[in-house]
Amino acid sequence: MPPSVAFVRTMDHERRIQQFKQMAEADPNNELGHFSLGKVYCEVGRYEDAAKSLSRALQLNPMLSKAYQLLAEAYDRAGRRQDAIDVLTRGVTVADDQGDRMPRDAMADMLKSWGAPVPTFLAPAKAGREEAATGPATAGFHCSRCGRPDDQLPKPPFKGPVGEKIYANVCRSCWREWIAMGTKVINELGLVLSTPIGQQTYDQYMMEFLQLEGR
Ligand SMILES: [Zn+2]
Repeated sequence: MPPSVAFVRTMDHERRIQQFKQMAEADPNNELGHFSLGKVYCEVGRYEDAAKSLSRALQLNPMLSKAYQLLAEAYDRAGRRQDAIDVLTRGVTVADDQGDRMPRDAMADMLKSWGAPVPTFLAPAKAGREEAATGPATAGFHCSRCGRPDDQLPKPPFKGPVGEKIYANVCRSCWREWIAMGTKVINELGLVLSTPIGQQTYDQYMMEFLQLEGR
C-alpha cells in the first residue's frame, strides 16, 4: 500500500527541517536558513521554535518584510498577541518603505482585525513624488524585493515562466545577490541540480529569497 499523503508530507517537513537546520548551523549569519527553518516550523505548528528562527532572521536582515508577517503569525498562534502586534507594527513600516505591498497589506489587515492601530502608509505619497519627478515613462518598474525603482534586468535570466516572473519583479542587484546566495545554498545543502529534488529545493530557496512566492 502506498504511504498516505499526510505521511509523505510529514516526512517532507522533517527532511526540510533537517536541511534548514543544517544550513542555519553551517552559516549562522545567513538569514535564509533561519527564515526557511522558521517557515517550516510554522507549517508544522511549532510556533515557539518558529518565533526563535524568524527573530534571528530579522536580526540578520531587518528588511525581510515577509519574516515579520510569519513571525507575527507564529507569536499569535503561540498565544502571544501583544508580541505579534509589536512585530506587525514594525513590519508594516518596513514593508511600506520597501514597496512590498502584499505583505504590508496582509500585516495591516491582521492589525485591523485585532483592533490595533495601523501605522500610516508612506508608499503612495512617495510613489506620487517619484512619478512627478521622473515622469511616468520610468515609473513602471519597482523591484518587489528591495522596492527600488529602475535597475530592471535587461531580459529574463532564463527561459520559462519563472524567468519571466523574475524579470518582471526583481532588480539587477537583487538578482546578483541571489546568484551569490544560490551558490552557498548549493554548497551547503549539497544540492545536485541535475536531479528533480535538487532543482526543486534550489527553486524553493530562490523564490523565498526573491520574495516571489504568491506573485
Ligand atoms: Zn531589488
